[in-house]
Amino acid sequence: MKIVHIIEEVRQSVQAAKKQGAKIGLVPTMGALHAGHGSLIEAAMAECDFVVVTIFVNPTQFGPGEDLDKYPRTLKEDAAYCEKLGADLIFAPSDKEMYPASQLVWVDVDKLTEGLCGAKRPGHFRGVTTVCAKLFNIVGADIAYFGQKDAQQVAVIRQMVQGLNMLLEIRICPIVREPDGLAVSSRNQYLSADERQRAVCLSQALTQCKEQIDAGQRDAAILTARMRTVIEHYGGRIDYVEIVDAEILQPLHAIEGRVLIAVAVFFGRTRLIDNILLDLK
Ligand code: AMP
Repeated sequence: MKIVHIIEEVRQSVQAAKKQGAKIGLVPTMGALHAGHGSLIEAAMAECDFVVVTIFVNPTQFGPGEDLDKYPRTLKEDAAYCEKLGADLIFAPSDKEMYPASQLVWVDVDKLTEGLCGAKRPGHFRGVTTVCAKLFNIVGADIAYFGQKDAQQVAVIRQMVQGLNMLLEIRICPIVREPDGLAVSSRNQYLSADERQRAVCLSQALTQCKEQIDAGQRDAAILTARMRTVIEHYGGRIDYVEIVDAEILQPLHAIEGRVLIAVAVFFGRTRLIDNILLDLK
């Protein structure tokens, strides 16, 4: 496995693989790799001949006062993990390599970015779509792999690919969870032991919500109120608790069709997100 830091080096490696007829898989990450990232790499390995993992803590998707500076950077361990899984190439550029001058070109997806995390983190998705568009152009992959953990990101990236006629395919992998249900995240390591225990309330609230829907409850106001009660019982500070249409991400009153139930909760300064996708006939 090679680790490269320069755009030109990625292009050369990928081109050489393509000459051999390889199908190219791309797994974009911010590093501090864990089993969630691992599942994307494994999915890429199963389907592609040459897998590129990008590791870049993208400054343009962090707002003022967010955790850009303290975000874990663990390239050595990440490289060992990628090697173990069998990835072919890591691209770990510097900020300067990705943004050599002040960025004048941005990719913006309207509407889908207005609610949920988009409302709480202004500019976040503009940073995500811009860096993903750049990575797609740099790597030239056939397929890119994303996690359902970031449900709004999935919808936004899909819209970008469709709206800009990008050639690559997007694959979505299920959320990987700890044994108690907490979604695996690079940010979980910020949690104190006590916060870590209480953080189980995100997945518990979502699971209980699903159970109530399975039992016939269709009133989004009642369901979100119950989720809020569960989360607050555990001392989580709610950023949002929403039930939206899974395609357009607009809030639903009566629940039907493809539904996304999404939560964002603070424990101390750590912001965690989780979601469940349901298909109601
Ligand atoms: P990040 O490094 O947090 O930007 O995440 C990189 C990719 O890994 C994104 O597509 C995430 O959705 C995905 N990912 C992060 N956590 C998980 C998880 N617990 N299960 C599945 N995918 C995940």
